[in-house]
Amino acid sequence: MTCPQCSQRLNYRNIQQSRCWSCGTKICVPRTYYQPVVIVSIAIMLITLFLTFSESIFSNLPLFFVWCLMLLAVEYVCIFVGSLIRHRIKPPPISTPHANDNIIRLRLSS
Ligand SMILES: [Zn+2]
Repeated sequence: MTCPQCSQRLNYRNIQQSRCWSCGTKICVPRTYYQPVVIVSIAIMLITLFLTFSESIFSNLPLFFVWCLMLLAVEYVCIFVGSLIRHRIKPPPISTPHANDNIIRLRLSS
């Protein structure tokens, strides 16, 4: 992955901050890029939910909260690890918000 403005290499953190570390250009990754990761992590969370579910959880309120927190943690870890893997397999198409403005202008002029 490289910055569209200054061609410097970008790492995972720069993408999360949506800003280039070298020239400070705002960068954006299409929302659809993370969709497979989100779908897979929701599936993993649901599997964890069914595997760890038992009726005794609902009779114990603190245990129920811990269980909900655990499911949330599973979801977050899956999204984090999933997006790291996705970055390795298929780097995101990075664009600048400025580049999007050009596309709109071209459409208006035609
Ligand atoms: Zn840059």
